[in-house]
Amino acid sequence: MTLLSKFFSKDSIMTRKMHAAVVEQFGKPLVLKEWDIPTPGPGQIVVKTEACGVCHTDLHAANGDWPLKPSPPFIPGHEGIGLVSAIGAGVTIVKEGDRVGVPWLYSACGHCEYCLTAWETVCPSAQFGGYTKNGGFADYILADPNYVAHIPAGLGAKEAAPLICAGITTYKGIKVTEAKAGEWIVISGAGGLGHLAIQYAKVMGLQVCAVDIDDGKLAHATRLGADLVVNAMHGDPAEAVKKGTDGGAHGVLITAPSLGAFKQGVAMTRKRGTCVLVGLPPGDFPVPLFDVVANCITIRGSFVGNREDMAEALSFAAQGKVKADIEMQPLSAINSVFERLEHGDVAARVVLDFSAH
Ligand SMILES: [Zn+2]
Ligand SMILES: [Zn+2]
Repeated sequence: MTLLSKFFSKDSIMTRKMHAAVVEQFGKPLVLKEWDIPTPGPGQIVVKTEACGVCHTDLHAANGDWPLKPSPPFIPGHEGIGLVSAIGAGVTIVKEGDRVGVPWLYSACGHCEYCLTAWETVCPSAQFGGYTKNGGFADYILADPNYVAHIPAGLGAKEAAPLICAGITTYKGIKVTEAKAGEWIVISGAGGLGHLAIQYAKVMGLQVCAVDIDDGKLAHATRLGADLVVNAMHGDPAEAVKKGTDGGAHGVLITAPSLGAFKQGVAMTRKRGTCVLVGLPPGDFPVPLFDVVANCITIRGSFVGNREDMAEALSFAAQGKVKADIEMQPLSAINSVFERLEHGDVAARVVLDFSAH
């Protein structure tokens, strides 16, 4: 008998309650409890969760690590995929039974200068799934149909889950390096984000150099198509990259949340190239000013992606060209999953499986 089935009576469904993992206090384990199933207001939908990926950001949310904090109690999770189960008045974009994802970019204003130029990710009125709005660590998710991800036919919920955050983040990050087909890109960090980045970069026609400190991850990077691998523990990794790419990579994508990787990434960037940061390590990043100025290097931050990026990122997966490594776990295992994430003890992307109940 699982912890959940012990905890929740069969009558729960009758009383319109759902299972949820809730942050009641920052820094404390999530509480598995009953929560009211949301009802959609005008312009809203409810999604019955099939699967929800677990992201490092969920851990930061639960710990209240970032300056803009969510307000407990709240339900984390921004990689929730499911079927539309209820529709509020006026909703025409989706219909009941559609498979959608409720991503980090939960909603935006649609009218500001950023929204008007397809940069809704930096809309000042943006809401964030599993952060400022309840997310996917629950049987049902209330969502804004204008901002859900539309999961293409042929792509399962479990496979899609990591793509609506980790997938779009790396795909957009590669795009904003502005590296073109045939040019070199460094993917620094070959783990949860990096293994997806390598695949996206290959289907975009780039030559890929994977950098990591783990030989096992580098061997996997080679299997995924990396043309060159560099172990950053040995020798001077920036020199190795410069040698292997004949002068440095045109684009560098830093997925590793490590200040050392940030510094090395700049040194691996070709003159006039772009180094893109998507990881958020704690602390300040000292910019090597001389190298950046003298080599005309661009350092750029990138944060998830817009709805068109989402459609593209999912389309590659539906075509079978990109596949996330996933490990399935039940919702009741969330605290042990968080503990493993904290210790860097998760090889693939963990996806919570809601198909059991
Ligand atoms: Zn995420
Ligand atoms: Zn806006």
